[in-house]
Amino acid sequence: MLTQEQALNCYKQTGAILKGHFKLTAGRHSDTYMQSAKLFIDTKQSEIVCKALAEKLAGEKIDLVVSPAVGGILMGYEVARQLGVPNIFAERENGEMTLRRGFSVEKGTKVVVVEDVVTTGGSVKEVVKLVQGLGAEVVAVASLVDRSNGAVDFGVKYVNLISMEVVSYDPDECPICKEGKIELVKPGSRQIFKK
Ligand SMILES: [Zn+2]
Repeated sequence: MLTQEQALNCYKQTGAILKGHFKLTAGRHSDTYMQSAKLFIDTKQSEIVCKALAEKLAGEKIDLVVSPAVGGILMGYEVARQLGVPNIFAERENGEMTLRRGFSVEKGTKVVVVEDVVTTGGSVKEVVKLVQGLGAEVVAVASLVDRSNGAVDFGVKYVNLISMEVVSYDPDECPICKEGKIELVKPGSRQIFKK
């Protein structure tokens, strides 16, 4: 078993916790961002956390891991490897979460939806809806980080390693914007936003 402290250390050791001024996927601003892509540069550290997360799913009958692209892809692969099951990912096409690349989900498949960091859980909810719509059963959602600190509800079992409330702000009320010293960045892209 891995404690929350040890899991956080994996993020810290790999430089995956960034400090600055970030636009989160949900549109809110924050001074902290968990850049899991940096954690996954280190195959040993990422194996440690994914193995610990897979252990939390012990006892569940699981046939398949499905992740939302892009953030969940590497993690979905490693969690699936630890569980000894196949994995695929869903991606957006014209804004709609969909399965491409010849991926499919059979009726009755027992699915775990895997995502690196859950903030509002929007992408995960879309993937849950997608696979349920194909007749599969979502037995659990699993993420490394729950930034909602337990507030998000997927309607199924939800396991994670790090549960914490990272302060975020409505763009109109963001104190970092008001101070105006640090440019707003969308993590993972080079784009810089005015707001
Ligand atoms: Zn801001």
